[in-house]
Amino acid sequence: MTDTLTTEQIRGFGVPVTGPVDGGLDEICAELGELETLKHQIEARQARLALEVDRLMRERAAAQGVPTQRQGKGVAELVARERRISPAHGRTVVALAKQLRGLPQTFDLFAAGDLSEHQALVVAREAAILEGPDRLAFDIRFAATAGVKEMGTRKIAHRAQAIALGLDEEAVVRRRDKAVADRHVTVQPTDRGDGMGWLKALLPIEQLAAIKDDLATAADTAVALGVDATRSQVMADTLVARLTGTGPVGLEQPAQPMTIDLVMTAEALLEHDHREPALLAGYGPIPNQLAKRLIETAVLDLQKVELRRLFTAPETGELVTMESKARLFPKALAQFIRLRDQLCRTPGCGATIAHIDHVEDWDSGGTTTVANGEGLCRQCNWAKQVIGHQHSHPPPLLTPSASTGPAIPRRPHLVIGYDADLELAA
Ligand SMILES: [Zn+2]
Repeated sequence: MTDTLTTEQIRGFGVPVTGPVDGGLDEICAELGELETLKHQIEARQARLALEVDRLMRERAAAQGVPTQRQGKGVAELVARERRISPAHGRTVVALAKQLRGLPQTFDLFAAGDLSEHQALVVAREAAILEGPDRLAFDIRFAATAGVKEMGTRKIAHRAQAIALGLDEEAVVRRRDKAVADRHVTVQPTDRGDGMGWLKALLPIEQLAAIKDDLATAADTAVALGVDATRSQVMADTLVARLTGTGPVGLEQPAQPMTIDLVMTAEALLEHDHREPALLAGYGPIPNQLAKRLIETAVLDLQKVELRRLFTAPETGELVTMESKARLFPKALAQFIRLRDQLCRTPGCGATIAHIDHVEDWDSGGTTTVANGEGLCRQCNWAKQVIGHQHSHPPPLLTPSASTGPAIPRRPHLVIGYDADLELAA
């Protein structure tokens, strides 16, 4: 399906690459993009070569009478040596090549340069938890995803997760239960000799969401009150204070109940045996069973569950259909856009949303509406001011029409948006 480059052509291309850079900004930018595609194509070619190395080395070992289960020995190490990567990385790329053999359409996307090696790995990992026929269905569905090239790694991961969930939720839950057993904390100094270090915790995402929300709320409050520290610094200080019971937090922080945003269909929420995955805002799809477990825990613990109906009857749907006169997005509208977009809308990005902004600028006549609103991460919001807007595709997840709902309780523990039109695993 793709006109894959041969290594000969790539070698020929290597000559102009070392030459001087000239041309206008547009030409230079075009070359930047073309080279990125070429990099991915080269990686895909390396995956095919690794498969050949594997085949030839096994043949040779077989001829020498090596037992079948030991014939693949040394393949990853040889590939690693030639690619000048670590043996551990070599094992990863050889495993990827083998997994991609079972995902021919995904392999084609990789060979066309639409996926990077890392992105192909992320997709193959999701497929790996599925059984044979489901894996083939996964390959077809993933390859049918529109605009993969523009999606960025996190959105690609979410897409692959949603497809895997749609095909075999049990397999995803089994993996999750197994993964939870691996939870741990590590502490590691930086390699800069600057007296700093990393605290890393591997935790279930709902706990991460709660921790992040708690720290972000504390930081926003402190920054709003004019603390003499950056938002990131206050988040770090708050973490230390919360863990040690002491610590230099800039201002008195009231303990904040946590907010977790979940989006799921009405059927998935209300019908016992409905299996459609839910979306944990900013983190991606999670199994329906897990979403229900989260809701049950919240109900039992705190009775602070807010249920918001998204996108309902147009006659009362003021929240999203109204033309706001304000330049800033009203809170409810901003929350709606945040739930709809999930991750930064910029093509290729997928970082956590920090700002809700106008697609078409307020100053050029853009309105404060759902259609003209988009979630952007801090960096992209800033970049938009500098290099201008890169038009993003409308998010494929939700179909906004209108919204009604009770007023938002002041400090919800769990926000569940549900919508009959939500389509997750296409
Ligand atoms: Zn972004």
